[in-house]
Amino acid sequence: MTASKEFPGAVQEVLTTGKLEIICGPMFSGKSEELIRRLRRAIIAKQRVMTFKHALDNRFSFDCVASHTGDKIDAQAIDTPERILEFVKKGGVDVIGIDEVQFFANSVVYVIDELVHSGKRVIAAGLDLDFKGIPFGPMPTLLTLADEVMKLKAICAICGKDAPFSQRLIDGKPAKYTDPIILIGAQESYQARCRTCYTIEQVPPAIQKFSWLQ
Ligand code: ADP
Ligand code: ZN
Repeated sequence: MTASKEFPGAVQEVLTTGKLEIICGPMFSGKSEELIRRLRRAIIAKQRVMTFKHALDNRFSFDCVASHTGDKIDAQAIDTPERILEFVKKGGVDVIGIDEVQFFANSVVYVIDELVHSGKRVIAAGLDLDFKGIPFGPMPTLLTLADEVMKLKAICAICGKDAPFSQRLIDGKPAKYTDPIILIGAQESYQARCRTCYTIEQVPPAIQKFSWLQ
């Protein structure tokens, strides 16, 4: 603890060891809202914040992270996680925010590990499960490495209960497990759903669904 330059008379906690915070849950569960809230508090505390999102996620804007409520924070859109290290190495960053972290290549795990070991606070938000209900990309590893995990729920679009799943709809009907990720010409949408209302056909037996565990 040291005296703060920004807030004379106050004592400011100086981050000497890094920290990883993961915010996860289905679509519409408030992950971006929570990420923006934490980053904004860090900015109020005069910490130097830099926010990143995958260039794929151009949901609302190319240069900001936006929640479904319209709340926004400036962000760099990048295509590879290594770009985060390039930005941070230019200096002057204490806190790194990453939205939609599940979209990044698995090497995002190495990048985040390096950032945390160099004393940075990393706050990353992402989908823990894909539309098939299986762990999304690097998320399982990040969840186990995290110092803190917040698992959020949305509201089921059908019955109003807590919703841990992201229901994929193709032309208004539940997608099948075997449907390709990219469907040309189809109208695709997502809803938050509870365990009862989440619908998916052609799910293989668990031994195939979790084949990487064998
Ligand atoms: P995420 O990043 O998890 O997709 P956002 O932070 O972008 O979520 O948006 C969360 C907001 O979305 C909620 O505060 C609420 O206003 C709105 N919302 C819309 N549909 C739902 C839903 N089914 N369940 C919960 N919130 C919803
Ligand atoms: Zn439901």
